Amino acid sequence: MLSVILPAYNEEKMIRKASDVIDRILSSEGIAYEIVFVNDGSKDRTWEEIEQAARENSHVTGVLFSRNFGKEAAMLAGLASASGDCCAVMDCDLQHPPETLVEMYRLWEQGYEVIEGVKRTRGKESAVHRASAGIFYRIISKAVKIDMSRASDFKLLDRKAVDALLSMPERNVFFRALSSWIGFRTTSVEFDVQERTEGESKWSTWSLVQYAVKNIVSFSTVPMQCVTVAGVFVFLLAVVLGIQSLVKYFSGHAVEGFTTVILLILMIGSIIMISLGIIGYYIAKIYEEVKGRPRYLISKKIGGTTMKR
Ligand code: UDP
Ligand code: MG
Repeated sequence: MLSVILPAYNEEKMIRKASDVIDRILSSEGIAYEIVFVNDGSKDRTWEEIEQAARENSHVTGVLFSRNFGKEAAMLAGLASASGDCCAVMDCDLQHPPETLVEMYRLWEQGYEVIEGVKRTRGKESAVHRASAGIFYRIISKAVKIDMSRASDFKLLDRKAVDALLSMPERNVFFRALSSWIGFRTTSVEFDVQERTEGESKWSTWSLVQYAVKNIVSFSTVPMQCVTVAGVFVFLLAVVLGIQSLVKYFSGHAVEGFTTVILLILMIGSIIMISLGIIGYYIAKIYEEVKGRPRYLISKKIGGTTMKR
């Protein structure tokens, strides 16, 4: 059986559409399936819609979060409550075309364990967005050592891969990269990002910046090593300037150079503060991990006859 996991945050208009389309496509292909909606603390009627869909279609199940925990948490909760032999994760705004699910499923039948959806085109985006996404993915690709520039959260995972992902103890999960990091027999399927038909994207520029920083930190310690590199540069500068000052002192021209002093204090001061900030961020993340709070809290589960766990 294939479990399709759909994280949903304020998607009241899409629940019905998504379950209908997926139902139609998978039924006509004769693929046994269940649909797991995870309501990530929506403020609209999303949960009522999920309940309604579950009443009408026994393949539909729902998980209700106690508040908004974010998409990564919602995807993991969906995977945890899915009982399929393979699980697909996709956006419930149908920007990931459900037709591709069939293609992915066929590849799974051929023995692939991780089938990644890669974006052929990125859909409509502003130039700034595209450029910053480019920088972000270059850094992340270096950290994971896999090309992530066209990666998405649209994936189909074998039960083995799902269990591997769920056994990761870390709180701060970057699903897109972690599902590549686990390895297994991997292949990819290209798809075109569709236009959103209803509702709006939940991402503001600021939330994307936070997302980028959080995920770079969760996968790489390079920012902290930059601190050391900056320290080495400042030290070299100090040696050169130190020698120059001593030469000036001994040759009797030591009074000038107040501007240099001010500049040096400003420069070194700011490097130290930025460095402390970077280290502080890592410490904050360690603190979060050490607290070991659950990634999400579930207040309710509903679901069809296929629900086993
Ligand atoms: N989503 C979620 N929790 C959040 C934000 C988004 O579960 O806090 C879901 C959302 O309902 C959708 C998917 O994640 O199914 C992708 O979100 P969105 O379409 O806003 O992102 P975009 O497609 O613009 O990257
Ligand atoms: Mg979307």
